[in-house]
Amino acid sequence: MPQIEIADTRPRSRRSAVTCMVGRVPVGGGHPVVVQSMTNTDTADPASTAAQVRLLAEAGSELVRVTVNTREAAAAVPELVRRVRGEGVTAPIVGDFHYNGHTLLGEYPACATALDKYRINPGNVGVGEKHDDNFRRMIEVAVAHGKPVRIGVNWGSLDRALLTRLMDENARRPEPLEDRAVVLEAMRESALRSAESAERFGQPHERIILSAKVSDVRDLVSVYRSLGAACDYPLHLGLTEAGLGAKGIVASTAALAILLHEGIGDTIRVSLTPAPGGDRAEEVRVAQQILQSLGIRHFTPQVTSCPGCGRTTSTFFQELAADVTTHIQGRMAFWRDRYPGVAELRVAVMGCVVNGPGESKHADIGISLPGTGEAPKAPVFVDGKLTVTLQGATIAADFAALLDEYVERRYGAKG
Ligand code: SF4
Repeated sequence: MPQIEIADTRPRSRRSAVTCMVGRVPVGGGHPVVVQSMTNTDTADPASTAAQVRLLAEAGSELVRVTVNTREAAAAVPELVRRVRGEGVTAPIVGDFHYNGHTLLGEYPACATALDKYRINPGNVGVGEKHDDNFRRMIEVAVAHGKPVRIGVNWGSLDRALLTRLMDENARRPEPLEDRAVVLEAMRESALRSAESAERFGQPHERIILSAKVSDVRDLVSVYRSLGAACDYPLHLGLTEAGLGAKGIVASTAALAILLHEGIGDTIRVSLTPAPGGDRAEEVRVAQQILQSLGIRHFTPQVTSCPGCGRTTSTFFQELAADVTTHIQGRMAFWRDRYPGVAELRVAVMGCVVNGPGESKHADIGISLPGTGEAPKAPVFVDGKLTVTLQGATIAADFAALLDEYVERRYGAKG
């Protein structure tokens, strides 16, 4: 038999060579990929914005961005930061500036001081000489306060002058590129040239993060591959305007997974449109799950469960899978501090004998329920070995107890 060579499918470890410190959070330089998010409250209202920053941070957002779009918002930022720090939230707060950032950062030095990073969109800082002047003014504030910046290009607000010039140059080529390719080239150029200008105005190389967001998955992959190959700045990844619900989650996952697996990206944001009254922290959980599914980071134990089929005619199996997940979520606040490494725990909850024992053996601890017509017994596998068979009305509680024991034994001080 010829040997089958299994390719190493682990994500490549190459990330940006440069580390940019955002507050106390390192981004790039081989540090863990950072999860970030953005509030959707009015920043001029520091109470509601502080509450949402806290919600996002508690969900696991390691950086939180707030829009700073008006004088009222800029004036409220110091109070907002005071409030979240007073509540024990340590996540760095990033200010998102468009159009008037040069004015607000200049007029509100307390805002400039309170923020941990400024996001600058080079596509909307003005045109012509004003563009350069406004951009320089923002960078000078960053230099004066020792703050990092993200130069965040977005195709919805791309530098028109640059795009027009590149379109004209393209038209003169013997074989012109498609317009789409020129737009992506303009995005990369806008990011790189702005970074170059920022350094010329005094911003240190290691205080710059770049992003170039589009809403099409294939375009996002293309532009980031090109950007990643052209520079060593840390890269902020995100599919912009990803959308609502499953569409937004799937599109973001498709785009980010390809890039992260190739070693591109140092911090990620999932830009979901929340349902009316929906939970803003959903975008944080999705970002974590993307990283966890790729094996890049671990945030919580993974529960592997089969979808169930005609072999599981009762809802017991679904209820057990939900109960185990809820049990783990409920325990994590306690487990996280007490049991280092517990986030890497793998649990399996399977519906019948077809794949149940096999999948359970691959997990750290797994249970295989009886399918229709099978003997009413549920074998439990621990570290690949059958250790006990559960049955009766207390299977869920018994399995939860076995899970707790396993965690204590494996991750506890004596584990
Ligand atoms: S493990 Fe059993 S119950 Fe689950 S999907 Fe496969 S055959 Fe169906």
